[in-house]
Amino acid sequence: MSYEDKSLKCTDCGTAFTFTAGEQEFFATKGYTNEPKRCPSCRKNRHQQNRSSSYGSPRSYTTR
Ligand SMILES: [Zn+2]
Repeated sequence: MSYEDKSLKCTDCGTAFTFTAGEQEFFATKGYTNEPKRCPSCRKNRHQQNRSSSYGSPRSYTTR
């Protein structure tokens, strides 16, 4: 299976970022099937925020 660079849009800030072939391969080796939803800088920001908060993602609360 071969990978190609892919252009994705960050769900947080709307910035277009590249999901590179190398990253896709890395994701696959980790068993991740989902594409990243956020650009690298938002991911970094979230990671830093998570360190000061023990709450999970708000998305885990689903009404209904
Ligand atoms: Zn972003």
